Amino acid sequence: MSTRLTIFDTTLRDGEQAPGFSMRTDEKLKMARQLAALGADIIEAGFPIASDADAESVRMIATHVRGPVIAALARCHPADIDRAGWALAPAPRRRIHVFIATSDLHLERKLRMSREACLEAAVAAIHRARRYADDVQFSAEDATRSDMDFLCRLVEEVISAGCTTINLPDTVGYSTPDEIASFFTTIIQRVSNARHATFSAHCHDDLGLAVANTIAAVRAGARQVECTINGIGERAGNASLEEFVMATRVRPDILPYSTGIDTRQIFPASQLLTALTGEGVQANKAIVGRNAFAHEAGIHQDGMLKDRRTYEIMRPEEVGVPQATLVLGKHSGRHAVQRRCELVGHTLEGRELDAVYRAVIALADREKVVTDADLLVIVARLRGAVAQASAPVQMPVVADFYNTPAESGYGHGV
Ligand code: MN
Repeated sequence: MSTRLTIFDTTLRDGEQAPGFSMRTDEKLKMARQLAALGADIIEAGFPIASDADAESVRMIATHVRGPVIAALARCHPADIDRAGWALAPAPRRRIHVFIATSDLHLERKLRMSREACLEAAVAAIHRARRYADDVQFSAEDATRSDMDFLCRLVEEVISAGCTTINLPDTVGYSTPDEIASFFTTIIQRVSNARHATFSAHCHDDLGLAVANTIAAVRAGARQVECTINGIGERAGNASLEEFVMATRVRPDILPYSTGIDTRQIFPASQLLTALTGEGVQANKAIVGRNAFAHEAGIHQDGMLKDRRTYEIMRPEEVGVPQATLVLGKHSGRHAVQRRCELVGHTLEGRELDAVYRAVIALADREKVVTDADLLVIVARLRGAVAQASAPVQMPVVADFYNTPAESGYGHGV
């Protein structure tokens, strides 16, 4: 039997923090709805004390997105925690995520704080966060470079104070898989109340090891994985959600773990993020890059035509990648729209096709590109309208697609 893992998506917090990836509130809301459709268990929506816009974005997502737990980040400062609590208040399922650095390097050089003061601040933060949420996560920043004795003592105290998830980040992407495995094994063994908390991995990709380290942490007992769409995040980024999830799908023989992710929503999520930020992924990026399922060499093409398994370890359809790429824009014709709809699983004709075509052109006037995710929303909304009335189909104003609360639209598995 496979072990169910919790997917904690931090595209809108760690990812959004990276240069070139900032998003406006309406854009974050769109992305959050797609993350809900994708099946992320937890969406870290932002860092409310960082700016008024960040607080507003978290509040909007907490108000409109249903399904996932909504999380917000806070330092171990009362004002941060209060701000996060305010921003999360509308969410029926919410988590406050507090953090403090625990390595001597960060404590001495950055925070100018003793280990004892760090421990006191962490425990006080958990108590304060519990006023706003039963679900409280603690992160020991730079955990992998922290003193093991001190880290174990601090984790034990934080769990005693009521913290339910312990995240141990490899903040600077410095660790190797073997090290991460023994790190998690040691902490989970040594912390006497470890069974009262879920342990979590948050790995950065500075050495290109983020996904490998995340897998190592899970094999050593971590049950929550922090990751981002397209692997975006500070510097070289975070563990990529799509790579981690597909590793468990393709290799259940050695990775017997399951998640709540609907993998067919992976490519639409990647495309939406690219459209919102204007930052594409490299052509050879695993799972979502332009070439991830392209076969050019003659021998490979020959093998693919005889039996796809010769060069394909997963089907592009599994991750929502259309088999052919037709870019939709305002110059696209009805036929291109019809073909693209077929590729994402909808056969359209006549009046239905006309309505979708008009919506695509209207959206193309406002957006950089019309993604498959957009197309799926358009079709779903149209079909919802058809089910409710037999009158001639009226497409709603395109902007309404994204301003509709999640419970009636985007958030529920379009
Ligand atoms: Mn990080």
